[in-house]
Amino acid sequence: MPQKTKHTPMMEQYFSIKKDYPDAFLFYRLGDFYEMFYEDAIQVSQLLELTLTARNKNADDPIPMCGIPHHAAQGYIDTLIDQGYKVAVCEQVEDPKTTKGMVKREVVQLVTPGTRLAVGETGARENNYLTAVLYIEEQGVYSFSYADLSTGEIKVAILSSVDSLINECESLATKEIVIGSELGEEVTHKLEQHGILLSPHNMLPTDKQEYSSLTLKLESTELIAGATLLISYLQVTQKRRLDHLQKAMSYQPEHFLKMDYYSKYNLELAQSIRTKEKKGTLLWLLDETNTAMGARLLKQWLDRPLVEKDLIVERQDRVESLLNAFFERMDLKERLKKVYDLERLAGRVAFGSVNGRDLIQLKTSLNQVPGIREVIEGINQGQWDSLLVDLVPAYSLVDLIDTAINEEAPLAITEGNVIKDGYNEQLDTYRDAMKNGKQWIAELEAKERQETGIKTLKIKFNRVFGYFIEITKSNIASLPEGRYERKQTLANAERYVTPELKEIETLILEAEEKSQELEYQLFLEVREEVKKEIDFLQKLAKSIASLDVLKSFADISESYHYVRPELVNDRSHLELVEGRHPVVEKVLGSQEYVPNSVMMPEDTSILLITGPNMSGKSTYMRQLALTVIMAQMGCFVPCEKATLPIFDQIFTRIGASDDLISGQSTFMVEMMEANQALRFATKNSLILFDELGRGTATYDGMALAQGIIEYIHEKVGAKTLFSTHYHEITVLEEVLTGLKNIHVGAVEENGKLVFLHKMMTGSADKSYGIHVAKLAGLPDELLVRSSEILAHLEGETPEMSLTEKESVAPVVSEATEQLSLFEDSQENPVLKELKEINLLEMTPMDALNCLFQLQKKL
Ligand code: ADP
Ligand code: MG
Repeated sequence: MPQKTKHTPMMEQYFSIKKDYPDAFLFYRLGDFYEMFYEDAIQVSQLLELTLTARNKNADDPIPMCGIPHHAAQGYIDTLIDQGYKVAVCEQVEDPKTTKGMVKREVVQLVTPGTRLAVGETGARENNYLTAVLYIEEQGVYSFSYADLSTGEIKVAILSSVDSLINECESLATKEIVIGSELGEEVTHKLEQHGILLSPHNMLPTDKQEYSSLTLKLESTELIAGATLLISYLQVTQKRRLDHLQKAMSYQPEHFLKMDYYSKYNLELAQSIRTKEKKGTLLWLLDETNTAMGARLLKQWLDRPLVEKDLIVERQDRVESLLNAFFERMDLKERLKKVYDLERLAGRVAFGSVNGRDLIQLKTSLNQVPGIREVIEGINQGQWDSLLVDLVPAYSLVDLIDTAINEEAPLAITEGNVIKDGYNEQLDTYRDAMKNGKQWIAELEAKERQETGIKTLKIKFNRVFGYFIEITKSNIASLPEGRYERKQTLANAERYVTPELKEIETLILEAEEKSQELEYQLFLEVREEVKKEIDFLQKLAKSIASLDVLKSFADISESYHYVRPELVNDRSHLELVEGRHPVVEKVLGSQEYVPNSVMMPEDTSILLITGPNMSGKSTYMRQLALTVIMAQMGCFVPCEKATLPIFDQIFTRIGASDDLISGQSTFMVEMMEANQALRFATKNSLILFDELGRGTATYDGMALAQGIIEYIHEKVGAKTLFSTHYHEITVLEEVLTGLKNIHVGAVEENGKLVFLHKMMTGSADKSYGIHVAKLAGLPDELLVRSSEILAHLEGETPEMSLTEKESVAPVVSEATEQLSLFEDSQENPVLKELKEINLLEMTPMDALNCLFQLQKKL
């Protein structure tokens, strides 16, 4: 960092700016480059693989430096932001040509992960959320807020625990959280663990008044404080007017179906566990939206399914009306395809980054509205009333853009051709002058050719010399002496000017310059006009987005034959007739998929599922969860008929062996997560425990599984699907009245196992582990031997009275005694080894592997 030595004025200026941005890379504009110095230069040169050079190379303390050309900066900035860094973009704010001495420089924008605007195609279909948190000490709660800078949406909530804070952050996939108060080491650490950049920020006392118009809909001072923190940070980083920010709205997480991040992850709602992509997820299945706004809203609905029956039914009614109107829906689809991202266009209007093409896109989009409205009015029987309120054509805005903006407007807004002919008289005169000027030039050229007799004489233009007459070397001899004034000599041509040509040139260039200036002014005026409509546009965008999602629901419900579920307010009755896992069905095709019903009438709270590996237990459980989520989003569901209660929360816990991310050493994590479900689930919740307890020794796991089931049965009362490979606990059906055994059918054909993927009542009679091993191609003699051992073990192990509590411990010791069954063969080392194997610690697969090894030794 800076030494005591005297620095040049420029470096002094650099330091004075850099000190305000200690945690960002300062991109310091120097001519056509952004330069970085010192530590910034060292780090950035590594991160971006740039050459590190030095300023004052030969001095005692050269300054490390690296630079990037300003026109290529965006890509570099994106790369740094992607990696979780911040970039302060410092520009020359005075024109160097007209300034004496040092040019003034200022940071014009601080780009951060949470405030960066979307890039690329996928970026458009996703929100990028900045979040903020303020700890309210008196109440021990967090005021939590989030915003998408590109759309201007702001939401605020009071969260009562660290867990819910992490959950919100995770489900919003936020990359940056603004910290307004001390959060304590534990919370800070947790947030960092989730890869979230923490940006401490101090609000100014004036912030509250300044942003009061944005927070006036919030109900409490805590909410206002949270929102203000967020808005203040946006302001500080963006350093410009943010007229598109919408009024902050509060929400309550409990007004939505609650799923923790782990459950969302596990159910592959928006991200595939294996590929981390959208493909293969519920979102992938549901997304038939035609607009980027629709795609983003769908993701929001997926993150927050509803719990209020009336709201769900309203969506269902709309989906049904679209489903029944095939031609209207097709029509709607074509129109929606022509609707651009109104939400983000509105954002860019406010941002001042909108160009002529954007306005044409806006016009094209707005032009679709009357048609869209007509379609909806045509099918409306009351269910669309509230949506139609905001689905309003904007004729005057369309008119304005239509008369003012050129259809083929270029990307640049300062180089002309943006404003249409006939929009402004003055502009038309300039354009006439330009046009006439060109005509004059053409005429002059003809005249000079005539008079000099040189057929190849040309009048050309370049930026340095303006207009000139060009004559090739071979023709110069025929040029009358003194006719033109020589301007430039080229290898094979001479260039000349004449007073007449200069005069025309002045006229043309002046007209060109003035017209460009005027066009720019006119464009800004149009933009200001559009800006006045931002509020209107945002509402319109919301109604179109929502329509788009509902249309998407209708489309997929039609394609895959989904039905409208009947929702019952109390939890008593759950009936899913011939249900399907929507994503597996889509991937396998509907012929391949075997539908399965889920029947949980009032008196059933737990289904205990047994069946061989790979038979479809996990699929069955997920099928129910996805169906519930789809239903509560307002979509139709994959089955013949469904009666569903409205759930308040979904918990899923997957046993260690199925848990791809955390692997096997995480039994502790599994238990901690099970604990969450047991503590926070209500009788209105849905719990999926998939082979819980698998991560520990057999009897341990079995005992825990039973304990957990009993606890849910007695204390929680949530609807629960519990799959297990511990057949022994199926006897619980006899004592727990709310528990029903079901199993997945498998048949043996010629000694081979055939999975039916069909759920049946009762428990599975075998675990078929050896059959699965056979399918996997293990050696025959090994399998025969294993079958013998199995028969032996099954014969010898006493019936376990698991239904009696406290029976687990004695069972373990009895079972341990059973291991002495090979007692008499101690002398053989292989047998000795066999004897020492701790079967209780092994999975069936490990046991097989081990057997195989032993056999090889023998
Ligand atoms: P388990 O949890 O019992 O080990 P899974 O639920 O993981 O079994 O299912 C294993 C495979 O069987 C799945 O990948 C899927 O392809 C197939 N499968 C599961 N259920 C069905 C079904 N109902 N119809 C057709 N195939 C199914
Ligand atoms: Mg499974």
